[in-house]
Amino acid sequence: MSTSFDKNQPRIAIVGAGPGGLTLALILQRHGVKPVVYESEPSRTSRDQGGSLDLHPESGQKALQAAGLYDQFQAIARYEGEDFRLFDKNGCLYMDEKAEDEQGGRPEIDRGTLRDLLLNALDPACIRWGHKLHQAIPREDGRHELHFENGHTDTVDLVVGADGAFSRIRPLLTDAVPAYTGLSMVELNVRDAAVSHPDLAAFNGRGKLFALGDHKGILAQLNGDGGIRVYASFEAERDWLDTCGIPFDQPEEAQRQLLMMFSDWDESLREYIRQADGAILPRRIYMLPVGLTWEHKPGVTLIGDAAHLMSPFAGEGANLAMLDAAELALSIVGHADLNKAVQAYEEKMYSYSKPSAEDSYDNLKLCFSDNAASNLKELMHQLHEHPEIEG
Ligand SMILES: Cc1cc2nc3c(=O)[nH]c(=O)nc-3n(C[C@H](O)[C@H](O)[C@H](O)COP(=O)(O)OP(=O)(O)OC[C@H]3O[C@@H](n4cnc5c(N)ncnc54)[C@H](O)[C@@H]3O)c2cc1C
Repeated sequence: MSTSFDKNQPRIAIVGAGPGGLTLALILQRHGVKPVVYESEPSRTSRDQGGSLDLHPESGQKALQAAGLYDQFQAIARYEGEDFRLFDKNGCLYMDEKAEDEQGGRPEIDRGTLRDLLLNALDPACIRWGHKLHQAIPREDGRHELHFENGHTDTVDLVVGADGAFSRIRPLLTDAVPAYTGLSMVELNVRDAAVSHPDLAAFNGRGKLFALGDHKGILAQLNGDGGIRVYASFEAERDWLDTCGIPFDQPEEAQRQLLMMFSDWDESLREYIRQADGAILPRRIYMLPVGLTWEHKPGVTLIGDAAHLMSPFAGEGANLAMLDAAELALSIVGHADLNKAVQAYEEKMYSYSKPSAEDSYDNLKLCFSDNAASNLKELMHQLHEHPEIEG
């Protein structure tokens, strides 16, 4: 792509090395722009990056194309991970979908594998691990001073908040804060399922399984490492995780109490909780207001969850973070004026992220409604027959 942008002038800082921040850095790097990425985690191996994601052709895969990683992704993508089974609490099967061929689908990749793919392609010198942003201070000249908890400071022409749900950059642009969605999830793991629990592995199949009922859910996904990640999910008050009395730091006792909360669910589903091992991770699910926008300000913008945090029920969060990254990077290299580039990105991002945020909210309500399994089956049939109504 030709560019009229003077690549040597602006200093661009990206705060956060999630899928959004890394994709942005990589696409800029491919066009000769050298950003700096500041990440709070001490190293690339310091944290388990979480479960499996499906990457969509129009967003996540499109961004990987812009990053030059599409072929590498295709070589490791798990198309069979698109399999989907849907049950109610009694173990009654509502859907049993098998992935089709290898074209045009939404194949799975583990978050850690995706991160490695991006990191391996990125100049390691551009990432500063162990740099947790404390504060960004706007200057009168439109630049920003960045202050980190380790004492480091930097002054940049553009700071991109890619720092996730509780972004420290977002308050520079909007007063909006994430609100609790009414859903709390407890993450468990069945390691090496095919070997350690073959019956459960066979029941789960190659992809995702949802069991829904009583405004609760057992959501499971086979990961690339052979483990099954399980989310016991509850419609609950915001403080429920603190007041429910389950000692999440004592896995055996927590599992016993979780099993009691699903005492009248089918044994095939309770097995996911019974057979889990290792740490248990409770988390609340938050969202930003659907359709959030802000008045453009020079020298600062947001991508990914920092811009449009939504529940996982549209399967779009990481995909949109990567699409934002591609749109912003290509806008930067295609405009002579940095702030016009950012403004053009923001307008475009608002238009495509709002429908996903609406879907995510609607799907969350549906998955925890009365007769949820039947309602979800009906919705998915509608989407199959009329794909144009999906976002
Ligand atoms: C249970 C669950 C399941 C999900 N499933 C899916 C799915 O199937 N498909 C999908 O597309 N999405 C899914 N998502 C959403 C997806 O995980 C997020 O939308 C995505 O990770 C957002 O990417 P990001 O780069 O914007 O932010 P993040 O991935 O949150 O990355 C932000 C980075 O910024 C760093 N950081 C934070 N604060 C600072 C600071 N002050 N200074 C420096 N660094 C900082 C963090 O350490 C982190 O590395 C799911 C989310 C959850 C909770």
